[in-house]
Amino acid sequence: METKVLKFGGSSLADAAQFRKVAAIVRADPSRRYVVASAPGKRFPEDIKVTDMLYDCFDLAARKENIEDAFAKIEARYNGIVAELGLDLSLDAEFRKIRMAIEHHAGKDYVASRGEYLNSLILARYLGFAFIDAEAGIFFNENGTFDDKHTYKALAALLAEAEYAVVPGFYGSMPNGTIKTFSRGGSDVTGAIVARAAEASIYENWTDVSGMLMADPRIVENPRVIEEITYRELRELAYMGATVMHEEAIFPVREACIPINIRNTNAPEDPGTMIVPQSDRFSDTVITGVAGRKGFSSITIEKDRMNTEVGFGRKVLNVLEDFGISFEHAPTGIDTMSVVVATAAIAPCKDAIIGRIFRDANADSVTIEDDIALIAIVGRGMVRNKGTAGRVLTSIADRDINIRMIDQGSGENNIIVGVSESDYTAALQAIYHEFVRGA
Ligand code: ADP
Ligand code: ASP
Ligand code: MG
Repeated sequence: METKVLKFGGSSLADAAQFRKVAAIVRADPSRRYVVASAPGKRFPEDIKVTDMLYDCFDLAARKENIEDAFAKIEARYNGIVAELGLDLSLDAEFRKIRMAIEHHAGKDYVASRGEYLNSLILARYLGFAFIDAEAGIFFNENGTFDDKHTYKALAALLAEAEYAVVPGFYGSMPNGTIKTFSRGGSDVTGAIVARAAEASIYENWTDVSGMLMADPRIVENPRVIEEITYRELRELAYMGATVMHEEAIFPVREACIPINIRNTNAPEDPGTMIVPQSDRFSDTVITGVAGRKGFSSITIEKDRMNTEVGFGRKVLNVLEDFGISFEHAPTGIDTMSVVVATAAIAPCKDAIIGRIFRDANADSVTIEDDIALIAIVGRGMVRNKGTAGRVLTSIADRDINIRMIDQGSGENNIIVGVSESDYTAALQAIYHEFVRGA
C-alpha cells in the first residue's frame, strides 16, 4: 500500500476545532498512515504556544519558584481539547509525572518535549491510531547530532508494526536515554525522518498557510503561493527566514527523493507547494521567492594590494575559526574584504576579533558595522533571465535605500543584498513588487 506521512504544526492542533479538521484530512485518504504532531500552538495572535509555556515552567523551577499556576494552565489546554472532542481519556497520571519531573529539575529538553508527547497521545486516541513514542525511534549521537543509522533501523521496525500511527514531533533520545529536542520548529524534521523511515511516497507538511509563499506574509500583503520549488531553493529561503519549514527538514527526504507538499489545514482543497529534487517548470516571475533576516554585522578589513597577497583571506577566516564563529558571506574587493557574520556570535568578543585580525592579517584597518539585514533573492529561473541582479538593485535604489553589501551565489540561483535593518521591510517589499508586478 502507498504510504503518506503527514506532519501537523502547532496551529493545526491548537484546539478541538483544529483537531477535527486534522481528522477529516487524515481520514480522507487511507494511505495517510503516519501522522507527526506538534504541541498545541497559538489559537489567536496573543496566545502562548504550549512549548513556550513549558519552557516557562522549566525556568520557574530553575529559580525554585512555584510552578503550580503555570502548569495548571498547560493542563487546562489539554483537558479542554480532550473534553471538547468527547474523548474517554484522562491525562492526570501523565500530568502528575511531568509536573513532578519539572519540580525535580528534569532537563529542559525533556520538559519542552512533553508538549508534543501529550498532544500526540490525544491525537492517536482521537484518530484510533497507534501511538509510537519518538523516544523509542529517533536517536541522537553523543555529540548531539542526529544518529541516522540507529534511527532508521529502529523507526522502520516500529512503523512496520503499526498500520496507522501517530508519532510526536520535535524530540528523540540521547545514547544515555535522556530526551533531546531538535531546535525550535523541529517537528518538521521529525516528519521528514518518519517519511524516510516509512519509505513514504510523499511527506505532507500541514500548516496555517496555503504553501510556501513568495515572501513572508507578515511583510508583504497577500504574497503569491509558490507552486513548485526545489529542495535547494527552499533551503536557501528557509535558512534566510522563510520559517514555514525548518531548513534541516530537507535532508532526510532529499536523500530518498521523497517530495514534500506544504498544505493548509484551514484550506485543505488548496494544492499548496510541491518541493521537488529538480524542476524544469519556470515561474513567470523569474524569482521563486525572497526572504530575509536581521541581526548581521559586517567586518571590513582594508589593506593595500590585498588581492595579490596569497593567503590573506585564510588568515582572516582563521581568526573567526579560532573564535568558533561561522561566516555567512565574504565579498571581496581589490584592497578590501568584508565578512558578514551574525551579530550575536561576535558581540562577546568584538574587540578581541578586531585585534587579532589586525595582527594576524597585518591589516591597515578593521571595522565592524552592525544593524545589517540580509535579503536573499532565490530562483532557479534567474540564470535564464539576464538583468535580474540589475532589477533587484534598481528596485531598492528607487526607494532611496542604500545597499550595504551584494553577493551573488556562484550557482547563479541566488543574490544576497545587505541593507540597514531599518530599511529591511521596505527593501523586501520593493524587490517582491518588482518581480510580481512585472509578472
Ligand atoms: P507550524 O506551526 O505549522 O509549523 P510555522 O508557524 O512554523 O507553522 O510556519 C508557518 C508560518 O510561517 C506562517 O504562518 C507564516 O507566518 C510564516 N512564514 C514566513 N515566511 C513564509 C513564507 N515565505 N511562506 C509561508 N509562510 C511563511
Ligand atoms: N513545538 C516546537 C516549537 O514550538 C516544535 C514545533 O512546533 O515544530 O518549536
Ligand atoms: Mg513550524
